[in-house]
Amino acid sequence: MTLFDSPDFEGHEGVHAFFDEKTGLKSIIAVHSTARGPAAGGCRMWDYSSADAALTDALRLSRGMSYKNAMADLDFGGGKAVIIGDSRSQKTPELFEAFGRAVDSLGGQYWTAEDVGVSPSDLESTRKTTRFVAGLEGHAAASGDPSPVTAEGVFRGVRLCVERALNRDLKGVRVAIQGVGHVGAYLAEKLHAAGAELIIADVNQVALAEVAAKTGATIVPTDAIFDVEADVFAPCALGGAISNATLPRLKVKVIAGGANNQLADAMIGQTVFDRGILYAPDYVINGGGIINVAAEIRALEAGGAFDGGWVASKLDRLAQTLAEVIDQSISEKRPANLVADEIARARIAAARG
Ligand code: NAD
Repeated sequence: MTLFDSPDFEGHEGVHAFFDEKTGLKSIIAVHSTARGPAAGGCRMWDYSSADAALTDALRLSRGMSYKNAMADLDFGGGKAVIIGDSRSQKTPELFEAFGRAVDSLGGQYWTAEDVGVSPSDLESTRKTTRFVAGLEGHAAASGDPSPVTAEGVFRGVRLCVERALNRDLKGVRVAIQGVGHVGAYLAEKLHAAGAELIIADVNQVALAEVAAKTGATIVPTDAIFDVEADVFAPCALGGAISNATLPRLKVKVIAGGANNQLADAMIGQTVFDRGILYAPDYVINGGGIINVAAEIRALEAGGAFDGGWVASKLDRLAQTLAEVIDQSISEKRPANLVADEIARARIAAARG
């Protein structure tokens, strides 16, 4: 595959490949857009089956970050880094220092942070060789775990969609949550406090037991979560939860959750809409996490401290943006994911001038 022929190439400003002989680092940093500001997005370490697979992931994820940052009204563009390798066996501090040199060579065009397979302690090593890294602990600008902020944004999104689709508040509404990890567990607590009835599934039995004890949620087997009688389906596990295989099984009127890339492909958004289900576009509803990270970058750049008030105001703005997307989808009778894509592209184009 050549880069410019890839179906996932969408006018990316820069795609950079890095190799470090000493540490074995193989990394791709994709900068989709810097129109709104420096590209920001995490670094994923994954045992990709091929370099093409890694490139595809970097292209898709970096474009996704442009859209997510634009919808969260952040002065950041979109970028993403991938490191090719097994995060369980191939991590060394030196590898992440070499990755830091790669990030630094882009001169601040790209800010990195955590993603799948990369932890704050890995980023401590990266920090030794570049300042363009967020998601570290133990300093005044540190933003900490983004999950509670993500969950708060998702909670408001669920409430909004229930109001629009079912014309009621959350009391007695049945919500099926797939995945009760960081985001799913916080979301469950908030929904329970608002009077919702919960049905939960996870492959992690300990996480399930903890959430059920706190919220009175009903636990179902992992695959059964698609078949339960519920009003809302909240995907909070991995991507691709909504597919041609799972969609016909869902009995819900709303799909709204924290997971990234919930739709198995772009076409399924239309099918979701045609079935009369209101879908909250994932990269809009789950933008709380990147808002939290952006607050850290802001503080690092200004040499100041993390500002929780700024995060709260951006989260309010994000809730308004989601409401605009949902209302436009309803009034124009078009899938919400298409409406969101259009708004995101327009915001990026406007910044390009
Ligand atoms: P996490 O790893 O803490 O939680 C994911 C949970 O899903 C785990 O408990 C895991 O056991 C469970 N799971 C895995 N496969 C499953 C399956 N087949 N069925 C049911 N459960 C399954 O991750 P997280 O930080 O809570 O993130 C959840 C999702 O939200 C991810 O898609 C992530 O990319 C997205 N997201 C997270 C944040 C954040 O702030 N953490 C921000 C934006 C988006």
